[in-house]
Amino acid sequence: MITYLAVAFVLLIIGAIFYGFGIVLRRPPTKEELESSVCFLCGKRFERTILVERVIGDSKVVHFCRICISGLHADALSQPTSSSSA
Ligand SMILES: [Zn+2]
Repeated sequence: MITYLAVAFVLLIIGAIFYGFGIVLRRPPTKEELESSVCFLCGKRFERTILVERVIGDSKVVHFCRICISGLHADALSQPTSSSSA
């Protein structure tokens, strides 16, 4: 009976050690990660200075890269011109 308790205690200690390592290894974001953002469309990370930022709704901020904007622009130009009333 005592052996089972000892084994359970050792397993508990080992689990706590691995849990502690997980907390230690979870590092804060680097300066580079803080100054960059992910494009909302393609999901690639770019420097924030070359991204176009838009606010959707009240607080959601999204970023678009030039490649995706060019793609959207090309798609918009390829569509037939419609009148202003939908
Ligand atoms: Zn993109």
